[in-house]
Amino acid sequence: VLRLSAVRKTYGSSVVLADIGLDVPAHTVTALIGASGSGKSTLLRCVNLLEEIDDGAVFLDGAEITDPRTDQDAVRRRIGVVFQAYNLFPHMTVLDNITLAPRRVHRVPRAVAEGEARELLARLGLADRAGEYPDRLSGGQQQRVALLRAVATKPRLLLLDEITAALDPELVGEVLAVVRDLKEQGMTMVIATHEMAFAREVADQVCFLDAGVILERGTPAEVFGAPREPRTQEFLRRIT
Ligand code: ATP
Ligand code: MG
Repeated sequence: VLRLSAVRKTYGSSVVLADIGLDVPAHTVTALIGASGSGKSTLLRCVNLLEEIDDGAVFLDGAEITDPRTDQDAVRRRIGVVFQAYNLFPHMTVLDNITLAPRRVHRVPRAVAEGEARELLARLGLADRAGEYPDRLSGGQQQRVALLRAVATKPRLLLLDEITAALDPELVGEVLAVVRDLKEQGMTMVIATHEMAFAREVADQVCFLDAGVILERGTPAEVFGAPREPRTQEFLRRIT
């Protein structure tokens, strides 16, 4: 679904991503781990075309989306994104948040979009929250709704950037359960996370970023169980 080839990104004189190559097959989950500042968010932002890359190429379903002739809005319509916080529109109800993009961008009739949204909410036990505004929900509920909103348009790819980082520990589990559920449904995802236990459980591929390079990659068993690089070992020792 997604391929990065020799992607390079600089801010002024600092190289934030250097020669990143990455393959994300359909229906797989890729976890990006690494210290703060290693480039995880920047990598996700380059995929979503929020950042312009300096060199290399990003391909979505085989088409180069970093080609200057690309219709960037069309690409973004095929990629769902959820960030750490502030994902919902505060002046809209839960139901309107979820149905806005399907209705406006994908021209799904209101009744159909709302029916699908209510079904999704019911699956998460949030059926009675449809008419609420985001500030009346817990952080965990808000992030679960944000995930529903991101998948309501049936994206090809979902990018999640530290979606539990701003949550109280007791709310983390309910959000990760939704990610687990999406994986079971076959959603292709790239996840930047500090939740190592979760990455280990849910990821098919783990990439350890260090100063803008993928220093080590492999299955969770390889990267967490038997890291080869001293820097990976040190990182895992520090945080676990
Ligand atoms: P964290 O775990 O803290 O979220 P990260 O791995 O997501 O970190 P990035 O946010 O991708 O790291 O940042 C990578 C590097 O790029 C950092 O050194 C950061 O200071 C730098 N950087 C990020 N955005 C900008 C920007 N807009 N201008 C200049 N430098 C930036
Ligand atoms: Mg980040």
